[in-house]
Amino acid sequence: MTDQDKEKLKSLLLKERVDLEKRLLELTDVDFGSDIDSGEQESDETEELSSNIPVSNSFRDRLSDIDEALEKMEAGTYGICENCGSEISMDLLQVNPESRLCKNCKANG
Ligand SMILES: [Zn+2]
Repeated sequence: MTDQDKEKLKSLLLKERVDLEKRLLELTDVDFGSDIDSGEQESDETEELSSNIPVSNSFRDRLSDIDEALEKMEAGTYGICENCGSEISMDLLQVNPESRLCKNCKANG
């Protein structure tokens, strides 16, 4: 991966991050604000009762994936499959820059 590729993917990640945070805010703004604010400390069972929570949880999961990808960029380990250790191809990263797995490992579950 060239530095240019890395810069491109980094800006993709940052853009996606802003987008996700905006969507999370929109979700939490609509009536569910208090639920989500206190949700962190509560049990999983309670969170699943509200229909918006699973959506916001999946946004949160993606956000943490993006954060991890950005941290890996700083550490120089970005673009390496967490499962088999091989390089993740650019065409996969361009579609899914926060990906932790290479195409093969993704396909194998
Ligand atoms: Zn792999």
